[in-house]
Amino acid sequence: MAQPVIPKEPKYVVTSHSIDGTFESCPRRFEFRHIYQRVPATEPRGLAADVGTALHEATQEWTKDYDNDRSDLTLLRWWPWQLEAAREDSGMKDHKRSLGNALLLLDRIRRDPFWDDWEVAILPDRSHAIELPWRINHLSLGSFKHPQTGEELFLATQGKIDWILRHKRERNRYMVCDLKTTVLDEAAQQASFRFSGQAGQYGLVLAQALNLPWQEQGLEVTYLVAEFSEFGEPIVSPLHHKLDPMELWESLEAKNERLDRMIRMGNKGFWPRRSHGCAFYGTPCGFLDICHRRDPDFLEDWFSFDQERFRKESRIYDPLWTIDA
Ligand code: SF4
Repeated sequence: MAQPVIPKEPKYVVTSHSIDGTFESCPRRFEFRHIYQRVPATEPRGLAADVGTALHEATQEWTKDYDNDRSDLTLLRWWPWQLEAAREDSGMKDHKRSLGNALLLLDRIRRDPFWDDWEVAILPDRSHAIELPWRINHLSLGSFKHPQTGEELFLATQGKIDWILRHKRERNRYMVCDLKTTVLDEAAQQASFRFSGQAGQYGLVLAQALNLPWQEQGLEVTYLVAEFSEFGEPIVSPLHHKLDPMELWESLEAKNERLDRMIRMGNKGFWPRRSHGCAFYGTPCGFLDICHRRDPDFLEDWFSFDQERFRKESRIYDPLWTIDA
């Protein structure tokens, strides 16, 4: 097979764990959102992601030096006050994800016995291994042309690891730890996070960050699942998994197979509609009015004409580690 020609400054379509979910549920929606980079303003923003971010920030602050006051203030600083008020005004108050419940949950996370055994690892540059952005540029998979501009587009994947932790007594043990805030019950948590699909990428990043040979040793991962409770004490469950190398390979394989499909669709210029319904949580998909048109110039004109309704958006952050694959 001929090697792809890689330009000096390649342009990328950046995927992530959640963007992969969009692709799997409807490739056409992926095309609108991540190739044309348009987000319909009509789709309401959920509170869950912003409340989750506030709790992540507050917990990560605490793991630096276990200062409860500073961690509480961090939660308040990140709290989505405006969004919460707007949703309350429109009768969509989220009773479980209230500020009071979030403070109770933060307190419960900090008191979990999990922290008796694990602490934040220190990276070779002496910084705390907290909130670690990484990126993989999938250059070897080839490229496809942007349907409207004709620019060559390569695929990349970005993500963030919440923590790399080190065992307090067994000093050769490291693990990846991700905080997951949820309203799901315990059985649903197991099902959601056991094969979450991110394991292989964690392996690549740990090899890059700390030289850990996941191909021989596998990898320890904990999903620190923090469950909001409307009444009474919230629940924290550290779901710990020792993944063997085979499982990591399998996860990388699944990701590569998905990327191959993206490249194939991009080269055909045809991203199929594969939705089992065009509504999300009772709200129509914001592309419903335009989804029947496939001609790129018309689409670009439509989006440009209606900039209020379709804002241009791409969330790309600076990675700590970039892996070319
Ligand atoms: S309208 Fe339906 S088919 Fe079209 S992008 Fe939205 S979910 Fe997919």
